[in-house]
Amino acid sequence: MAVWIEVLMKSKYVILSLYIFFWVKALILNSSSVSYTMPDIFQKSDMLKGARHTIKDYCRLIWEDLQLQEINIYANYSLDQVEQENPQVQPGGVWAPEKCVSFQHVAIIIPYRDRLFHLIHLLRRLHPLLRRQHIEYQVFVLEQAGGTPFNRGMLMNIGVKESAKLGKFDCFIFHDVDLLPEHDRNIYMCDNNLRHLASAIDEMRYHVMFENYAGGVVALTESNFKKINGYPNIYWGWGNEDDDFSARAKITELRLTRPPEYIGRYKMVKHMKAERSSH
Ligand code: UDP
Ligand code: MN
Repeated sequence: MAVWIEVLMKSKYVILSLYIFFWVKALILNSSSVSYTMPDIFQKSDMLKGARHTIKDYCRLIWEDLQLQEINIYANYSLDQVEQENPQVQPGGVWAPEKCVSFQHVAIIIPYRDRLFHLIHLLRRLHPLLRRQHIEYQVFVLEQAGGTPFNRGMLMNIGVKESAKLGKFDCFIFHDVDLLPEHDRNIYMCDNNLRHLASAIDEMRYHVMFENYAGGVVALTESNFKKINGYPNIYWGWGNEDDDFSARAKITELRLTRPPEYIGRYKMVKHMKAERSSH
C-alpha cells in the first residue's frame, strides 16, 4: 500500500477519536452542577415559598433602573462622604424599603483587616445598589484583630453567628472587601443554590477562573449555609477556604449558579498578595 494511504488511514482514526473525545467532554460539561441563570429568577414564585405576605406586597425590581455603572477604583473617597451620600442608612449599616416588602432579609458579611481604602469604595458602591434593588439588608464588617495570618473562613462563620444576635437573616452574602460590582442587575439575593455573584472579575479578564470557583462574592440561604456546615475554620493565610466551601456545596448536592458574565462583572481594587495558607 502506498505510504500516503497508510497515513491517511491512521489520521482518520485520530480525527475520529478526537471527535468522540470532544463529544464525551461536551456531554460531561452539560451535566455538570454549574449553571448560569438570569437575575430575573428572583422574581419567580419559587423564591416566595414560606412567605408571610401576599405577592403584591413584595418589592418588584425595575429593570430599567438597573444599569451598568462606571467604577473608578482610583478615586479617593472618605467615610464621611459615604455617610453624607447615604443618609437613609441607619446606624449599624441597616436599611429596608419603606413602601414594599423585600423578598429576603440579607446580611452582607465582609471579612476585613487593614483595607480601609477598599472598604470605603465598597460601601459607597453597595448602599445605593442595594437600595435600587429594594433589598432589606444589614452590612457586617468582620475585622480580625492581632497579627496572626488572616482567616477568611473563620471570619465568615463568626459573621453568621454574630448576625443572628441582631436579626433573622434569610440570605448571607460573603463579600471580599476589594470587589466592586459593576452591574446593578447583579441581584444581591439568594437562590436555592450556592450563587457565585462574582462570575467575571476584571483581574481574571472577566472570566471564571475554573468551573467550581466560588471565591470573591457568594450568596446562599441560611438553611443551605447550615446544611453545608459553613466555611472551614482551619485555613490561616491566603487561599483554600473558598475551594473547600465550594467542595462542601458540591458534596451536599447544591448546584453552583452564576449570573452571566456581562452581569456578574466586578472590578478589583489593587492590593498586594498575602502568603498562601499552610494547609
Ligand atoms: N482580607 C483583608 N485583609 C487582609 C487579607 C484579606 O481584609 O489582610 C479580606 C478582604 O476582604 C479580601 C479577602 O479577605 O478581599 C480576600 O483576600 P485577598 O483580597 O488578599 O485575596 P485575593 O483577592 O488575592 O484572592
Ligand atoms: Mn482580593
